Formats: sequence, structure tokens, C-alpha cells
Amino acid sequence: MMPGISNIMWSSARSEAALEAALPVPIEIRCLRTAKRLRLRFDDATGGLLLTCPWRTSRRAALAWALDQRDWIEAQLARAEPNEPFAPGAAIPFEGEDIRIVWDASAPRTPQLGDGELRTGGPEDGVARRIELFLKRRALETMSREVGEFAAAAGSSATGVSVGDAGSRWGSCSSRGRIRLSWRLILAPPNVRRYVVAHEVAHLVHLDHSARFKALEARLFGPGLAEAKATLRRIGPRLRRLGRQR
Ligand SMILES: [Zn+2]
Repeated sequence: MMPGISNIMWSSARSEAALEAALPVPIEIRCLRTAKRLRLRFDDATGGLLLTCPWRTSRRAALAWALDQRDWIEAQLARAEPNEPFAPGAAIPFEGEDIRIVWDASAPRTPQLGDGELRTGGPEDGVARRIELFLKRRALETMSREVGEFAAAAGSSATGVSVGDAGSRWGSCSSRGRIRLSWRLILAPPNVRRYVVAHEVAHLVHLDHSARFKALEARLFGPGLAEAKATLRRIGPRLRRLGRQR
């Protein structure tokens, strides 16, 4: 996050399209009634820029301002961590513990977890896909069970549980009681995963973030909610880079 600058100055005569094309990464611009100044940040989920600006700021003015921050943008890009593909030899977290991906052509294709290793056979070019499939399956099994447990404690039940990989969201709960969670949560320590599950289950009862919602979320999760939340904020960017190609 960089400090916003309230004093907007631009003199460039370039077109909107030219300004946008001069930026090194895609940009999303949101004008907010509550924004008092322009603010630029990186969206870890998309790898693009997110610019929030005061209501009625023209798109062209916003783009020109963003372009003036090019040094900052370049510095952020240089600092950005690389993706971590699921490749043989790679170390990845599983339920918060480091394990190593091992490819052994003579081993069964279906990945086996044990002794700090996730071992898979079959053709090498399918390793990443098989590892991801394994993780998604484990994520769905584990979190379906946890949804059931939390929902019983909340006196409610979900109409469905699924896993996906939806941008910047770790979980969602529809008004019809369908809970969707990021499969990447199986990589995180259990308390982080359980916090997201408890949060979405609490939405089965309250579809808002009211005080009653927060009380239920805290009751379901138990002590340590703030720590779990803070950990997710800290490790979230890496979780999103895991399993993505370079
Ligand atoms: Zn929520």
C-alpha cells in the first residue's frame, strides 16, 4: 500500500487507451463515494493493480495518475515473489507442515502422503495436475466434515459444500446455504482453515457481518480467532502462488 496523493495533477495529452497500455500490468479502477483521494495497491489474487479513487474521477485522470506512480509499480513488481508450481522436488505446505513432492515413475499414479513426502508416479508432465487433484480432494473431504461439525454446533446445516479457487475470496456462503471454499486452505495450518470454515458456517445463520454474526463465529471457532485471521493475511499471498506455473 502506498500513501495516496490528494493533489491530482496531470498534463499528459495521451488517450485513455495509450495511458492504460503504458502500465506494465492490468489495472482495475473503482470510484468510491467514500474515497477522498486516489489510492493504488497490488491485488495479490490477480497480480494486477487496484486503483480506488473519489467519485466522479475521470478514467483518464485516474490512469494518468497511476502512470505517474510507475517507479513505485516497478519496484513492487521487482519485489513480487515468483509462483511455486507443483513440480518434483518442490517443498509445499500441507496443513501448515512442509512436505516435498516426489516423482517416482514406478510409484502408483495416485499421490500417496507419508514421511513428509507426497509421492506420485505416472508421466512427469501430469505431476502438477495429479498433485492439485489430490489436494482438492483432501480439501473437500476435510472441510465438508468441518462444515458438518460447525453447522451442527450452530443448529443449522449447509445445502452443499464445494471447493474452488475464486480470486481473492477464501470462502462464500449463498443465501440458499451453499458453502464454497478455496481448496488452497488445505495448505494452511488447521486453525486458519477452520477459521474460514467457521466464518462461512456462521453465515448460514446470519448473512451479514453483524454483532450477532461475530458472536456466533467466535462461539463456533473458540479462542484464537484474531491470530488465525492475522495468519491468513500473512500467508495468503503465498498460498495463492502455490501450484501456479512460473
Ligand atoms: Zn463473511
